[in-house]
Amino acid sequence: MFFDSHCHLDRIDLADFDNDFNNLLQQTRAQQVEQMVCICVNLESFDDMYEKVAPVDGVYATVGVHPDYEEVQEPEVGQLVELSKKDKIVAIGETGLDYYHTDGPEWQRQRFRIHIDAALETDLPLIIHTRMAKQDTIGILKEHQADKVGGVMHCFTEDWEMAKQAIDLGFYISISGIVTFNQAQNVRDMAVQIPDDRLLIETDAPWLAPVPYRGKTNYPGHVHLVAEKLAEIRGSDVETIAELTRNNAQRLFRL
Ligand SMILES: [Zn+2]
Ligand SMILES: [Zn+2]
Repeated sequence: MFFDSHCHLDRIDLADFDNDFNNLLQQTRAQQVEQMVCICVNLESFDDMYEKVAPVDGVYATVGVHPDYEEVQEPEVGQLVELSKKDKIVAIGETGLDYYHTDGPEWQRQRFRIHIDAALETDLPLIIHTRMAKQDTIGILKEHQADKVGGVMHCFTEDWEMAKQAIDLGFYISISGIVTFNQAQNVRDMAVQIPDDRLLIETDAPWLAPVPYRGKTNYPGHVHLVAEKLAEIRGSDVETIAELTRNNAQRLFRL
């Protein structure tokens, strides 16, 4: 049984699933994925996402505003805290810094700090998205004492040095389908070093479908491909990876 720690169930194109959300859920369960966290990316879509996924058994959700979206409603601490009180909200995010598409604007850092404050106030873990912003991400987490709540560095593709710093702050490291990509040797080199008790797996569906589905619509049913690759490079087996990542996710999200 697998736990997909990060997906966007509400954003998956249902054309591949007979235009039926239940069909998507059935196919997911057929791949032994019993639990998943559906990640919020903006406040405008929160209500629709929540209505769709919260009634589903084994599906949990988060509240937050993604760092890649500039022209969206800016979150306030009180608003995030209020929304997080709903049933099945297990984390704040996704939030963080992404300097890949930007020159590292102040609004991203400010939005990130707001999420950390909300996490501290609610005592919920953080879902962190970080790309090419190593120093600022770790710096802001430290400055704002995010180690009090911890969380996960999702779809992590940075180096082991950064992973180690995050782990020391109480964070988990989540590996996505990128670990199966041919050119992602750096991700495999980093992923073999993550301690068993800090490792998570995710699909980040509908994006980043693992090999052999690259370029196609991703869905949580593909998370076993991430586990299989991790088993191969860590000299383990898929059942062991499934079990330890599931236990870790349940501990992190307090399920
Ligand atoms: Zn992300
Ligand atoms: Zn995401």
